[in-house]
Amino acid sequence: MVEEEDLYREIIVDHSQSPRNQGTLEKPTHQHHGYNPLCGDEIELYLEVGEDRIQQVLFQGSGCAISQASASMLTQQLKGKTTAEAAVLIGTFKDWMKDRQAQECPESLGDIEALSGVRSYPVRVKCALLAWTTLEHALSGD
Ligand code: ZN
Repeated sequence: MVEEEDLYREIIVDHSQSPRNQGTLEKPTHQHHGYNPLCGDEIELYLEVGEDRIQQVLFQGSGCAISQASASMLTQQLKGKTTAEAAVLIGTFKDWMKDRQAQECPESLGDIEALSGVRSYPVRVKCALLAWTTLEHALSGD
């Protein structure tokens, strides 16, 4: 078992208390609302994609620290990425979240490694994944 303190590492607390990239876009090219009924977490994600690159990304949300910190850390990684690169990042994160045995965090995830402890709590994995599945839907347009 992972200790509670490992679940709420300093960086997660920091991101949940002062989320980066918070706000709304007036004319987003992509937008999606994500909801995690197990915990009550909500994310509204706004994207501006131009020339196949994510030019701007903002979100508004409410819910637990894990869901909001995950959204905040995700948005930090997105700016400037192509939609194809974003899709790869989503896949990498999902695989890592579901593989509890994986000791090493894929390097491409950067600070998101702080969510490592979440993998021991299947219910909290849903919280961590919310922003990512919301992004997936936003980009695929369904
Ligand atoms: Zn949650």
